[in-house]
Amino acid sequence: MDEFTLPCPVARECDACDGDFELDVYEAETAVGVVCMTLCGDCFDTGRTPRLYVPSAVKLALRHRGHLVDAGMALPEVAA
Ligand SMILES: [Zn+2]
Ligand SMILES: [Zn+2]
Repeated sequence: MDEFTLPCPVARECDACDGDFELDVYEAETAVGVVCMTLCGDCFDTGRTPRLYVPSAVKLALRHRGHLVDAGMALPEVAA
């Protein structure tokens, strides 16, 4: 994984399995842009990721862009 820490908030539960073991936030490329998601240690180790449908992926991509903008890591462009 990259060394830098994402500015994104870690959710209370895993986006893929709703577990709460060793939660951490990760970036993922989707058809609509980069999103962030919270995964537990098990899901990360096994490469399990939540199934994203386009409407929610767009929402997640915009939300993630907001995280980066808030942290001064990206320009506030809207892709969608
Ligand atoms: Zn999980
Ligand atoms: Zn984010």
